Amino acid sequence: MMTYGVAEERPVRGGAGEALRLASVTKVYEGVSSPVTALDGVSLVLESGTFTSVMGPSGSGKSTLLQCAAGLDRPTGGQVFVGGDELPGGDEAAVTRFRRTRVGFVFQQYNLIPYLTVTQNVRLPQQLAGRRGSREERRERAAILDRLGIADLADRRPAELSGGQQQRVAIARALAARPAVLFADEPTGALDTAGGRQVLELLRESVERFGQTVVMVTHDPVAAAYADTVLFLADGSLVDRLPNPTAEEVAGRMARLDDLAARRGRRTPAPADTQAATADTQAPTAGTQAATASTQAPTYPRPMTVKGA
Ligand code: ADP
Ligand code: MG
Repeated sequence: MMTYGVAEERPVRGGAGEALRLASVTKVYEGVSSPVTALDGVSLVLESGTFTSVMGPSGSGKSTLLQCAAGLDRPTGGQVFVGGDELPGGDEAAVTRFRRTRVGFVFQQYNLIPYLTVTQNVRLPQQLAGRRGSREERRERAAILDRLGIADLADRRPAELSGGQQQRVAIARALAARPAVLFADEPTGALDTAGGRQVLELLRESVERFGQTVVMVTHDPVAAAYADTVLFLADGSLVDRLPNPTAEEVAGRMARLDDLAARRGRRTPAPADTQAATADTQAPTAGTQAATASTQAPTYPRPMTVKGA
């Protein structure tokens, strides 16, 4: 397990140990003509203070995985634990409370409130959670802006910032709520190379300096390689795990998965025969087994675990 000097000064909710656990999580969307199994029994454990990238071909379930893990969407089956506590199954208000206190989210679109300043945007989640701005919280917010190199932008509005700066504000906002897990879905998708690199370095730094746990979905091997570990999804299942990744290794594994997805795609019948196509995605059929086996990667029936260095 990783420990950080700064982690004590700024404890992460849920404490040391396990930041995220998914136990046999499934998600089935009721499609127009037939159901779509977007997640097919995903189990994983992420220790606190780890940085994990999630990759996979388009449609493999990356966004669904993040949304179910973050309490933005409800799994059809299985359990999600954030910071050691189970995501409540009850009413929407309970889920919202849970999310506000334990989960941070950064999207491709920065989702900043245009008429609020940087400081006001960063403060917003705490206000929504009913926390009155204590002097300590104010000091901490200022420290976060300072560490993220955006302190001098505190009084600007989003329209007066570059894309990279806006995304850094979005990350500051997520970090200020001290989430057990910070989820990011394609956080560099709308940025140029330099802006993207700053955002990735910032996520990396939040792990190293604050002991933050970060889970990032990306389709960019260079971005993915900023993480400690890359997990690969295919057809709603975790099929591979790459610790200490390099961009080249990530690109190589993705090429194989894309290749398999394309071959599977060619076998997929035309829309008129969606029944058969669904059966193919729903059950781990012989085809899926063979496809997975031919990546020569081990499969992980029980939780894929990401441990601190
Ligand atoms: P990724 O992010 O890896 O591209 P998604 O998680 O967005 O994949 O989607 C996984 C699968 O679930 C895809 O087949 C997609 O079409 C389907 N899907 C995603 N969201 C919905 C939805 N709201 N309704 C129906 N099907 C969906
Ligand atoms: Mg997606």
